[in-house]
Amino acid sequence: MDIRVKKEAPDLLKTKPDENSLGFGQHMTDHMFVMLYDEGIGWHDAAVQPYENFSLDPAAMVLHYGQAIFEGLKAYRGNDDKIYLFRPTENLKRMNASAARMCMPEIPVDAVYDALKKLVALDKDWVPRADGATLYIRPTMVASEAGLGVRPSRQYIFFIINCPVGAYYPEGFNPVKIFVTDKYVRAVAGGVGNVKTAGNYAASIMAAVEAQKLGYTQVLWLDAIERRYIEEVGTMNIFFLIGDELITPPLTGSILPGITRDSVLRLTKDWGLKVSEKRITIDEVLAANEKGNLREIFGTGTAAVISPVGEINYKDQICTINNGKTGELSQKLFDELQAIQNGSSADPYGWVVEV
Ligand SMILES: *Cc1c(COP(=O)(O)O)cnc(C)c1O
Repeated sequence: MDIRVKKEAPDLLKTKPDENSLGFGQHMTDHMFVMLYDEGIGWHDAAVQPYENFSLDPAAMVLHYGQAIFEGLKAYRGNDDKIYLFRPTENLKRMNASAARMCMPEIPVDAVYDALKKLVALDKDWVPRADGATLYIRPTMVASEAGLGVRPSRQYIFFIINCPVGAYYPEGFNPVKIFVTDKYVRAVAGGVGNVKTAGNYAASIMAAVEAQKLGYTQVLWLDAIERRYIEEVGTMNIFFLIGDELITPPLTGSILPGITRDSVLRLTKDWGLKVSEKRITIDEVLAANEKGNLREIFGTGTAAVISPVGEINYKDQICTINNGKTGELSQKLFDELQAIQNGSSADPYGWVVEV
């Protein structure tokens, strides 16, 4: 596939934001990647080009029936000032799994990977230098055909946009408080919980808003059928260190297969920990805490990498984990993943690629 590159005119380049107050997803870079799909033709008109608005027909199918999928990954500035990506082709492969589930066309992984690198290279001055700050990369696909019949669209837009984001924990780890909801559910096997499709996030907002009103930053989701088995926390996978065993729920169809989750499983197994992917109920977690065996809980995801959990609330029972402090394993995993990502630690798994 031929990728055109059209650079923004020098006098139209944006003023870059202050690296110390980036927040998340506020400032888009100068360029974007776009390609179009038409049934019978395939992907075409691929271009790295100046960031600009789209023109969409108000009847575009994504606006009505939500055929929309996305990914999230990051570019890091290494200690050597070079720019790196972490397991980027895993994100593109997962995007194709999402596409298949949503009856959307697959993307050509090699060509899109090439485009992604071209885009990040062009926007390289946007990759922050501040400690822990990164460039967040958002590949997205939406149905663009105009029409109100419910069926797969025959036209799509695929695009990648980038934004510099600040360190998730600028003042060091601050363990989060999470609210276990038994009122709302996120996903059920057979549904779309195991793919990154926009509707999952729209459906989760109400539970998050209600939890935030009660002073909790995230929601812990239980399974939709028995409302006992732990699934995920917010938009992260979740791990429990109980005694000497590290436990995370298995990928049974309602959980998003996180790349950070996979990396944590790999590291901890290689460190010789006892690691289990198995179903675990909220009652088992509370019982382990009663017995003093619940040592750590943490979430995993690209945005925060590791997010230690300091407190959970289930049916008004408050359970404090590790005195509300960051556990040793959470800290070690965060340090090691960040060190691999910025090149200060060896990368025996070949996870990091230079742009
Ligand atoms: C993206 C996401 C994750 C984390 O995936 P990573 O690949 O580790 O970033 C976990 N759960 C949900 C629901 C997600 O959307």
